[in-house]
Amino acid sequence: MENNKQFHTWLDDFKLSHPFVIAGPCSAETEDQVLTIAHQLKNSDTSVMRAGIWKPRTRPGNFEGVGSVGLKWLQRAKAETGLLMATEVANARHVELALEHDIDVLWIGARSAVSPFIVQEIADALRGTDKIVLVKNPVNPDLALWLGAVERIYKVGIRKLGVVHRGFSTYQKTRYRNIPEWHIPIDLQNEFPDLPLILDPSHIAGNRDAIFELCQTALDLNYDGLMVETHHDPDNAWSDADQQITPDALMAMTERLIVRKTEGEAPDYKNKLETMRSRIDTIDDQLVNLMGKRMKIVDEIGVLKKENNVAILQVKRWNEILKRMTAEGGQLQLSEDFVLKVYRAIHQESIDHQKKIINK
Ligand code: PEP
Ligand code: MN
Repeated sequence: MENNKQFHTWLDDFKLSHPFVIAGPCSAETEDQVLTIAHQLKNSDTSVMRAGIWKPRTRPGNFEGVGSVGLKWLQRAKAETGLLMATEVANARHVELALEHDIDVLWIGARSAVSPFIVQEIADALRGTDKIVLVKNPVNPDLALWLGAVERIYKVGIRKLGVVHRGFSTYQKTRYRNIPEWHIPIDLQNEFPDLPLILDPSHIAGNRDAIFELCQTALDLNYDGLMVETHHDPDNAWSDADQQITPDALMAMTERLIVRKTEGEAPDYKNKLETMRSRIDTIDDQLVNLMGKRMKIVDEIGVLKKENNVAILQVKRWNEILKRMTAEGGQLQLSEDFVLKVYRAIHQESIDHQKKIINK
């Protein structure tokens, strides 16, 4: 995938003075529901209305979407409001039907993005279209899998491309339904700065409370847009009721969101920023050097363990380190979660080093 100014054009064509907004219900339920929401969104920042027609459900028996009849409702909503329409496609037949009904934006959902077979089937069906295609991140935190899905779409000639960050599933209980793992979309953004990046705060949050702060974080990280599940009667939505907000709440939120400038102008700002960035650079040098020094000692311990035929992993010692470092981190306003992640990574690298030494 070449990384020149080729992906951003479709977004620039909207000529927006605010972030790009896709809003609309998790699922299209009835023609009335679709039209009501469309009219309520008409005077908001929304450029594209979303509505799921085919719903991928983790467990069978939940509402699985109204099917192709809903595409006609979207066409009518578009004719009445001028909003562009978006829906999820999960196989070749969905793509065919969505294109037949002139749907403007087709997105690949998180459960489809995990499967190269499904993504390829969708890509083949999309060949030749000039519709906008968005690829949600796969449910598991795997950047290569996400990029692979984008590449499959790119390879069939689609250039109106973008990605949607909807968080990653985890077995752990967290305050989010899907944890954000911001570093993954940031890595993707570093590799393809021109690829429009859109946040779906609804599926990350799983509730209404965290939506605003997630959107603000995304704007602080230079995301291009937001996809927010919006329903005229969220409590009675047929799917994802807990996380949907009303069109009014959406408008109140977009008004409160602060869009930061990509580059500040004032020389004073630039000087200060330069200074602070160089400070960070020196500290980063120290960090890597210290880790190198630490690893040298780990290697020496590896030799000692080999000579004495002792196992690599010493659980008691490891737990002591974690306890001490999380306590110390806490004093420095570092969250326990962060310290644990860093130390798990360091420990893994130490084990890898010692394994090599012991098995030499
Ligand atoms: C959705 O957008 O309604 C949806 C099912 O999202 P995801 O694929 O991100 O779970
Ligand atoms: Mn949903």
